[in-house]
Amino acid sequence: LVQLSMPLNFMGMIYREIKQALIDIDDMFQILHRNPEIADRPDALPLAVSDGVVRFENVRFAYDPARPILRGVSFDVPAGRTVAIVGPSGAGKSTLSRLLFRFYEPQAGRILVDGQDIAGVRQASLRAAIGMVPQDTVLFNDTIGYNIRYGRWDATPAEVRAAASLAQIDRFISALPEGYDTPVGERGLKLSGGEKQRVAIARTILKGPPILVLDEATSALDSFTEREIQDALDTVSQGRTTLVIAHRLSTVVNADEIIVLDKGVIVERGDHATLLEQDGVYAAMWSRQREADAALEILQRNEDVV
Ligand code: ATP
Repeated sequence: LVQLSMPLNFMGMIYREIKQALIDIDDMFQILHRNPEIADRPDALPLAVSDGVVRFENVRFAYDPARPILRGVSFDVPAGRTVAIVGPSGAGKSTLSRLLFRFYEPQAGRILVDGQDIAGVRQASLRAAIGMVPQDTVLFNDTIGYNIRYGRWDATPAEVRAAASLAQIDRFISALPEGYDTPVGERGLKLSGGEKQRVAIARTILKGPPILVLDEATSALDSFTEREIQDALDTVSQGRTTLVIAHRLSTVVNADEIIVLDKGVIVERGDHATLLEQDGVYAAMWSRQREADAALEILQRNEDVV
């Protein structure tokens, strides 16, 4: 028995180490986009966040020099405000969030947080200041409570519940027979796209970062789920500087400023009402989206009937 338990203990140790390694890397988003070419400068200082103002200054960027993606983009996200980026697929919207996390560096221009060029600050301090609600949330094969606590390890069970409640997922979890101890992931409960997104929102509420990036899911959610998620996102973005990468327009109506990006340049900017009045690119996108939503609703209603 002793002979058998030794290798088992050893395997347990390896398993724990692998799991720890996963946890230590702050986020799957970071794993997916890690870029070994970006290193801290020897004189890099920690980012000092005061208000959380984000500024893009004439940013130019290309993954491949032959194909420019951003061609001189400038905008500000004032402290505590929400700016939404919209535009056709491939316009470069998500690229802006990757640059803000410094997974890549602009070829020209600067990105500033509270007046500090992010190229000169320590990456760990930059990423600690920014919360990300990604398009696809990766869940660990552990309990749902563990997956929420991932936002801040020292959170108490009451804080985990409060965050889940703000993210509108507490009721769902509490109704499960094992509650917060329910295993999720490959060998446990499978969560829907909307539920996973709410877990990500709860994590972010626990982390409590001054700056928030919401990379909205591209896949269409039913309108009830979408409204619930929107309420949760509104709660989490309250009082935080928020950049929304919007793939659907229904979520940007209340943004302080909407930036329309096309082929790497800003073609329109303003709030929802102003842009509708202008009757330009945004207004055309808005009416197309409304038609698509109406068609989807009819389809869903027919499915319900069948
Ligand atoms: P969508 O709404 O479809 O998500 P987007 O506006 O967010 O689009 P980005 O993800 O910013 O678009 O991509 C902009 C362009 O850059 C796309 O044409 C894409 O193919 C290209 N691109 C994205 N990531 C890379 C990469 N790692 N290497 C090379 N090209 C890339």
